Amino acid sequence: MKHSTTLPVTALPSAEKYQGKGPAYQRRFHVMAKPTGSRCNIDCTYCFYLHKEHLLHQNRREDMSDEVLENFIRQYIDSQDGDQVVFSWQGGEPTLMGLAWFDKVVAFQKKYQKPGQRIENDLQTNGLLINDEWAAWLKAHHFLVGLSIDGPEQLHDHHRVTRSGKPTFARVMEGVAALKRHQVPFNALVTVNNTNARFPLEVYRFLTRELGVTYIQFNPCVEAREFQQTAPQFWQDDSIPVTGTRRAKPGDLDSIVTDWSVDPEEWGRFLITVFEEWVNNDLGRVQVNLFETAVAQTMGMPAQICVTAEFCGKGLAIEKNGDIFSCDHYVYPEYRLGNLADARLAHMAISERQKAFGFGKRDTLPGDCKRCPHLKLCWGECPKNRLVRTKDGEAGLNYLCPGIKAFFDYSAPILAGIAVLLKHPDQEKVL
Ligand code: SF4
Ligand code: SF4
Repeated sequence: MKHSTTLPVTALPSAEKYQGKGPAYQRRFHVMAKPTGSRCNIDCTYCFYLHKEHLLHQNRREDMSDEVLENFIRQYIDSQDGDQVVFSWQGGEPTLMGLAWFDKVVAFQKKYQKPGQRIENDLQTNGLLINDEWAAWLKAHHFLVGLSIDGPEQLHDHHRVTRSGKPTFARVMEGVAALKRHQVPFNALVTVNNTNARFPLEVYRFLTRELGVTYIQFNPCVEAREFQQTAPQFWQDDSIPVTGTRRAKPGDLDSIVTDWSVDPEEWGRFLITVFEEWVNNDLGRVQVNLFETAVAQTMGMPAQICVTAEFCGKGLAIEKNGDIFSCDHYVYPEYRLGNLADARLAHMAISERQKAFGFGKRDTLPGDCKRCPHLKLCWGECPKNRLVRTKDGEAGLNYLCPGIKAFFDYSAPILAGIAVLLKHPDQEKVL
């Protein structure tokens, strides 16, 4: 599953570094590239992207052409005014493109790089094809790797399986070994689903203690049951359940979400347990996407990831044929902004449609969110998860709300303490 729709992440900022200025990414937009479209070499139960082949009428055998690739790289570099351009390669499974194709990526980037500009690449992979040759190449070209891994063997293999249902953990571990042999930095991307959510410490300790991972992205698995056909916000109004009712939880026959989605309360318990462990043992040593941004936002800084930001719309996606979409999670015909062949990327990124998409995150919040004490840490989370109604019947509440609330009820005072500590490192006793 590709759930890495976060803007480029920076480390937990210190008060000194910030000094009133927002991070440079505020002035930029980011595009996730899907050179294989939905093509993948495994078949995770919960993948939200495999069905795109049918939805977008893709030709399975055709990957991103050299022409589309060059046009994308040229326009993307051209449209950025900052000194850093971040390319993210995702899928499907981007390593299926092969190393010769990635040689072209690097060559085109060199060709269009502007003086003084820094080009960075990250690759989101399931790790199955990563061997010594790949690892040496990734190291040589300074690619940052995001590895999809759901925890120790049994938890990982529960959903992350091949097309014939075979486990993948052992092969992922071979990939990890190759990355380590070649000292390629890698992050873990964990999809928190109905199974591993019940084992927060097992997941977290496995990643940090056994694999030695120091950056983790936890992404809640939330999939509307109709996600394969129906674009977010196009749900039938009369089918939207009230938060806390049985249809607003996974496992029910009429549930709004798939069985493998994480239960909202379980999500809260997962976050609280991991947060406690992180604060007690790993603060400053391990970065967890949701905790880093929570600390930053508590300090009054901008969100570091889109899901907890006030607005979205700065993380677009490009499909293999050059089609541009509002977001990685909105790759549906209804959210197609155009194609690189006949519209400028920079124009699509700041088009009225995209602006409306981005501002919609704040402007469509239900009253419960507007009155919520945690609004500035949450901002209603991702709009694609706003699947339920508030208790008084207003649509547009986030499915995960009960868990998010529980997490911030618990963590907000501790976050405030960490914020004070970062601003005044001499006050260690605050925690
Ligand atoms: S819809 Fe917005 S919050 Fe959700 S993943 Fe996309 S950019 Fe992020
Ligand atoms: S915790 Fe719930 S009510 Fe509060 S802002 Fe987030 S989604 Fe809205």
